[in-house]
This record gives sequence, C-alpha cells and structure tokens, in this order.
Amino acid sequence: MKKVYCPACNENSVKSGFQNRKQRYKCKACNKRFQLTYAYEAYNENTNDLIKSLLKESCNGPAIYIAILK
Ligand SMILES: [Zn+2]
Repeated sequence: MKKVYCPACNENSVKSGFQNRKQRYKCKACNKRFQLTYAYEAYNENTNDLIKSLLKESCNGPAIYIAILK
C-alpha cells in the first residue's frame, strides 16, 4: 500500500473521500486536506533538479524555500 505524506508537515495521511473525482487525503497530524497530485508536487523530478541547481549555486537555505513556493 502506497503511503501518502502531508505536504504541510510530512506526516502520514489517510484517505478522506473524493473531490472532482480525485482522491482526497487528510493529514492525521495537522488535519489538512489535500489531493495526491498536490502532495507529490514537491517530489517531482523538476523540483528536485531545481533544488540541486540551487544547492550548487548557494548554500542559502531560505533562498531554496522561496524558489519552491513560487
Ligand atoms: Zn499535516
């Protein structure tokens, strides 16, 4: 079974019905609701490449967080 992690706090999440035919999930820790596509956005390859390139250029943590949120 695939585990789904909360995009806000990275805790385990559980299924919580559907919205627009998409499976929704609810975080057990912070009670936030989200859809799977959103949850995995931060882990897709493009974002990883972006983080890697930013890490090469700078060790500035806050700069990396700002880039992800855009
Ligand atoms: Zn959470």
